[in-house]
Amino acid sequence: MAHIKGLAAHAAGAEVLPFHYDPGPLAAHDVDIEISHCGVCHSDLHLISNDWGVSQFPFIPGHEVIGRILAMGSEVAGLEKGQRVGLGWQSNSCGVCEWCIQGKENLCPASEATCVRRHGGYADRVRCNARFAIPIPEALESENAAPLLCAGITVYNPLRSHGINPASRVGVVGIGGLGHLAIQFARVFGAEVTAFSTSASKEAEARALGAHRFVNSRETKAMKEVAGSLDFILNTANADQEWNTYVQALRPTGTLCFVGVPPSPVTVAAFPLISGQRALCGSPIGSPHTLREMMDVAARHGIQAKTELFPMAKANEAIDKVKKNKVRYRAVLAN
Ligand code: NAP
Ligand code: ZN
Repeated sequence: MAHIKGLAAHAAGAEVLPFHYDPGPLAAHDVDIEISHCGVCHSDLHLISNDWGVSQFPFIPGHEVIGRILAMGSEVAGLEKGQRVGLGWQSNSCGVCEWCIQGKENLCPASEATCVRRHGGYADRVRCNARFAIPIPEALESENAAPLLCAGITVYNPLRSHGINPASRVGVVGIGGLGHLAIQFARVFGAEVTAFSTSASKEAEARALGAHRFVNSRETKAMKEVAGSLDFILNTANADQEWNTYVQALRPTGTLCFVGVPPSPVTVAAFPLISGQRALCGSPIGSPHTLREMMDVAARHGIQAKTELFPMAKANEAIDKVKKNKVRYRAVLAN
């Protein structure tokens, strides 16, 4: 098999540059995907800057892949050559631990990430364990569906597992790649949705996506007015904020859930947690089963990412635009 050609970061914070590697022989349970589209998730930027201390250079970023199956290992069943599939953050798991057995592969301690210590989707091809190649429903366009593989599942999974329903009042903090999909899914689950944004210019679009209320999180007065009004707040922002204000925005028994990764430790006062029996939690991506369910929900309810398309060769432009918080709402690279 020919080398895989992609764009790799060679040092922390560097631009991505042409790079190729030999994927080696195809293992029995693996598939090779010929990539048509790959979203630019903010986690790629964290990895490129080595914010989390886990990056190994050079590496090809990219973990919101859509493409067609080019080759399948001898033991792969249930997929076909040429079939359109997606690959997200996770590319393998051990398959035998208690979490994998429960269908919660995203919690597997031996989980393998598509572009951590291996090469991801800013490339012509990518390899993964077949269990993590997710069939894409006919009704979804590849460009708008690619961001569902990471941004989509990361917000769908906690909304679903926390039982969001028509009685729920949901807040979404940060209206970027993850946040704009969270508004749509929360709305489909029937919730009343409040968008929290530092970008006043996103109000009309946030409402069009399904938000009932828009709060400019830079306005202290507006933030005070939402006190005690929400059951579930999903933070998708990658920045430090005054988390106590969000805890105060929760009703009794409410939850503040982190999917976005702020750089500093999250500090909150204990008393509002105690008195209102409120909770803080986090959530990592979602399992292959949940990915399939989310794809079906997205196809049937018309949920799609709003995207800005860039040719693969212009990946650095896309990355720069994400860094500046200028993308509305997901940059997608196309081959
Ligand atoms: P993104 O598209 O860049 O969106 C992030 C949003 O955060 C921005 O659009 C902005 O929204 C808000 N924001 C930016 N700077 C801010 C500031 N200084 N103060 C307050 N808000 C600010 O990023 P993304 O791809 O959605 O990813 C968001 C985060 O989720 C990243 O940390 C990423 O690593 C993480 N993530 C986690 C998982 C997981 O499994 N838990 C999966 C994927 C991604 P407004 O303009 O509306 O303020
Ligand atoms: Zn991601």
